[in-house]
Amino acid sequence: MNKIKRLSGGAFLLSAFVSLTASAETTGHGWAYEGEHGPAHWGSISKDFHTCESGRAESPIDIEKAKKASADMPRLKVNYRPLPIDIINTGHAVQFNATPGSDSITLGDQAYQLVQFHFHSPGEERFAGKDSVMDAHLVHRSEDGKLLVLAVQFQVGNQPNPVIQTMLDRIPKEKGAEFKVNAVMVNPLDLLPRQTSYYTYSGSLNTPPCSEGVTWIEFKQRVSITQQQLDAMQRFYHGNQRPVQALNGRDIWEVE
Ligand SMILES: [Zn+2]
Repeated sequence: MNKIKRLSGGAFLLSAFVSLTASAETTGHGWAYEGEHGPAHWGSISKDFHTCESGRAESPIDIEKAKKASADMPRLKVNYRPLPIDIINTGHAVQFNATPGSDSITLGDQAYQLVQFHFHSPGEERFAGKDSVMDAHLVHRSEDGKLLVLAVQFQVGNQPNPVIQTMLDRIPKEKGAEFKVNAVMVNPLDLLPRQTSYYTYSGSLNTPPCSEGVTWIEFKQRVSITQQQLDAMQRFYHGNQRPVQALNGRDIWEVE
């Protein structure tokens, strides 16, 4: 953290601050979503990013066909609780950091904690060739370091999304800046659809270093945001979408 600015004047800003973080993502090997540092070149920007090019189990993918999951496959259980606001403008996406704490989800017997969630517009996942206006990726880690991402697709409707609404006024405009306030909470549960049927497969991080072994869970039902919310989110990032990657014979499971 190289700079902390105190905000003043806002009634709710009792414990708020905006800081500039020197995270690897904002200062590291400059990758981008277009041009000479775009997705087609990620693998050659750094040897740490080699998997982006050579990987055989990369994400995102287009889900066209899935096999029905058997009854003994581990099922997802979500136990989210409200979290204080902590938003970073990473330079690649708007990201919400979760405070480390209790387990947020389980898959069978395996527990995971929510680490962060962030947004892509258009959405990266595709179902039968179609993407969505925006997606949320909720990134989780288990105690032994396994990663699991819950992916939610959005559609424009009349219902504003409460999490997006609470975040919108507080997203830092400056890249690398972070906004925290303990007095305002959001519940990540409000980002998930009511119907919890999903597709699941083994993939990767969608951004460099594109590491594999990530469990993806992609909800089938879309969540509503208003056009106004979408426009506001797109003013920060529009086009932060990695192209779909080859399936290379991987199985995709459908869980009802
Ligand atoms: Zn993502």
